[in-house]
Amino acid sequence: MKKVLVTGGAGYIGSHTVIELCNDDFIPVIVDNFSNTDDRILDGLHQLLGYSPELYRVDCTDYNALKAVFSTERPDAVIHFAAFKAVGESTALPLKYYSNNIESLLVVLRLMEEFNISDLVFSSSCTVYGQPEKLPVDESCPPQPATSPYGYSKQVCERIITDACAARPALKCALLRYFNPIGAHPSALIGELPFGIPNNLVPYITQTAIGIRSQLTIHGSDYQTPDGTCIRDYIHVCDLASAHVKALRWLENQSAVCEAFNLGQGLGNSVKEVVDTFVRVNESALPVVMGPRRPGDVEQVWADVSKANEQLQWKTERSLEQALKDAWKWEKHLQQAGVKS
Ligand code: UDP
Repeated sequence: MKKVLVTGGAGYIGSHTVIELCNDDFIPVIVDNFSNTDDRILDGLHQLLGYSPELYRVDCTDYNALKAVFSTERPDAVIHFAAFKAVGESTALPLKYYSNNIESLLVVLRLMEEFNISDLVFSSSCTVYGQPEKLPVDESCPPQPATSPYGYSKQVCERIITDACAARPALKCALLRYFNPIGAHPSALIGELPFGIPNNLVPYITQTAIGIRSQLTIHGSDYQTPDGTCIRDYIHVCDLASAHVKALRWLENQSAVCEAFNLGQGLGNSVKEVVDTFVRVNESALPVVMGPRRPGDVEQVWADVSKANEQLQWKTERSLEQALKDAWKWEKHLQQAGVKS
């Protein structure tokens, strides 16, 4: 069985990917600095898997510490999630984002070369597209100037990987461009942990519905869309996680490759549609007000996922309704766990 080093493996998308790896007979090894997660996710993984995957509390920018992990574990492949991801914070603290997101990738690439590891799956983002002229957007759409340091860090990382692959053909990489991951594992044992005020729509909705926030503000209702609110492509986190395993399997059969793949549902939903669907499927009250546009938001973006469907042999299996039910179940689980502790 192949061993896969999962940087950021205790995080939101990383932990769901750890489950999918085990389901497909990979052995995950988690590396995480716990800057945006905590031991609750490890407990959830243990309950779901019946064992605790090997874990290293290491920061990927620490070359010596990560080298020790590579020496001990000798992984066959790497999935690199570990990065900061809050768009707003990145504007306030650009150096924090550039140094962490870029340095950790450089360390990973350096060690992959030193240990002769060829297969890399990289966590990228649809922010690289900005507001595309043609929708749905496919991978041939040229990246637009980034609107945040976070977005720019993803563009730079994609470029670094592309250059590294060109210079060392033994290195193979799938650049996975995520659209909007939402929801949680249907068991409600793992999900996105709430640290501070959520920036993203769905955690804000669930926290409002449960009473932590007083109301949800819809950022802008005067966009050129059917109901005036922004359109995004929301994808269940478990579907997103399974694409990483498919990408690893795909890489096994490739040589000298560096390819980008869109990972979304392939459907656009407006903010209002997400709100209405949440209320309907969960029979939950949700106080909502209309507010001004949020600076930096693109009006609408959704994915053409035919490349991932065809080449990775991957498709989504869960609907927006399912994702919003699972998100709500997770929020309620957090509340119950909070009451108990
Ligand atoms: N949004 C909103 N209210 C919120 C959070 C987000 O109306 O409290 C909107 C946001 O303006 C965008 C959409 O929801 O149109 C998705 O935002 P999110 O931050 O979840 O993802 P993004 O696409 O910006 O990465």
